[in-house]
Amino acid sequence: MALQLVRAAFSIAALLLGAAQPAAAALRVVATTPDVADIAHQIGGDRIEVVTIAQGSQDPHKVPVKPSFVTKLNRADAVVANGLGLEHAFLPALLEVASNPKVLPTGPGYIDASIYIQPLEVPSSQNRSQGELHPLGNPHFSLDPVRAKAMAKAIAEGLARVDPAGAESYQSGLARFDIVLDTKIAEWEQLASPLRGVKAVSYHQDLVYLADRYGLQMVDTIETKPGVPATPGHLEELIETMKRDQVKLVIREIAYEMPLAQTVAERTGAHVATISAMAGGLPGTTGYVDSVEANLKALVEAVRAAPGQ
Ligand SMILES: [Zn+2]
Repeated sequence: MALQLVRAAFSIAALLLGAAQPAAAALRVVATTPDVADIAHQIGGDRIEVVTIAQGSQDPHKVPVKPSFVTKLNRADAVVANGLGLEHAFLPALLEVASNPKVLPTGPGYIDASIYIQPLEVPSSQNRSQGELHPLGNPHFSLDPVRAKAMAKAIAEGLARVDPAGAESYQSGLARFDIVLDTKIAEWEQLASPLRGVKAVSYHQDLVYLADRYGLQMVDTIETKPGVPATPGHLEELIETMKRDQVKLVIREIAYEMPLAQTVAERTGAHVATISAMAGGLPGTTGYVDSVEANLKALVEAVRAAPGQ
C-alpha cells in the first residue's frame, strides 16, 4: 500500500514536471535591447526564452552593468544584439566577465541584427561630429520600421544557425512578423505624412533613420555632440538657428530630461514631442510595433500643435 502511494505520488510529480518542461528545452536567448528582444520573440515564439538587458526608457549609451546579467550570459545559447556599437556601454564588459565563448562576438551564438543595415553618418577621419558614441556610424536604426525588417532577417538567420532543428519554425516566424510589419508600414506611411518636410531638432542624434524614412529634416541636437551635454554657448546657437530656420518641433527622447527640451521649445515657439529611442519606453507600450506607432503619433501630434504647420 505504502509503495503504491509512493509510486502514485512519483507519477504525479513526473506528470507535473513533464507539464512544466516542454519536450525540448527552449533556447536561452539574452537580448540587449527591448527592440531586438521583441523581434526575436515574434520570430522564435515558444522555441526561445528571451531575457532583455536594457529597458526601453533607458539611454542605450548608459545602460548600467548589473551582475545578474553575467549569470544569464554565462548560461545563454545566444545573444541578440542591435549592433553597430549601440551596446558599447554594457555588453563588452558583461561578456568579458560571463566567459561564455559561444556568445562572444566571434562565437556562433552571437546574433548581430545590424548585418544587413547600411549605416548612415559613418564618421570619416576628417569628420568626428558624432563624437565618440557613434564611431561605426549611427546605431539607432531600429527607430525605422522598414530597417527593422532587415534586423528581423538577420535575427531569424542567427536563430536558425544556433538551433538548426528550428530553422523552419524561425522561417515561418519571420514570414508572420514580416506580414504584420508590412501591414503596419503601409498604415504608418499615411499616419506619418504630416512629418514630411518638417524641420526638427532632437535631444540626441538618433533620428537619422526615422527622418530618412518619413521626411523629417533634422537641423541640430540639444546635445553638443552625441553623449556631450549641451553647453550654454551651444544652446544659444541652437536657439538662433531654430528661430532663423523656423524650427517648430523639438524631439525629446524619454531617457533625456524634459526641462531643457521645454526651455528650448519655449524660447523658439516650438512644441515638444516625447518619443522613445527603444521599444517599450513610452507609457502603454510594450512591443516593437506599438512603440513605433506611439513614437509616430507623438511626433504628428506635436507637429499639428505647432503654429504654422
Ligand atoms: Zn546614440
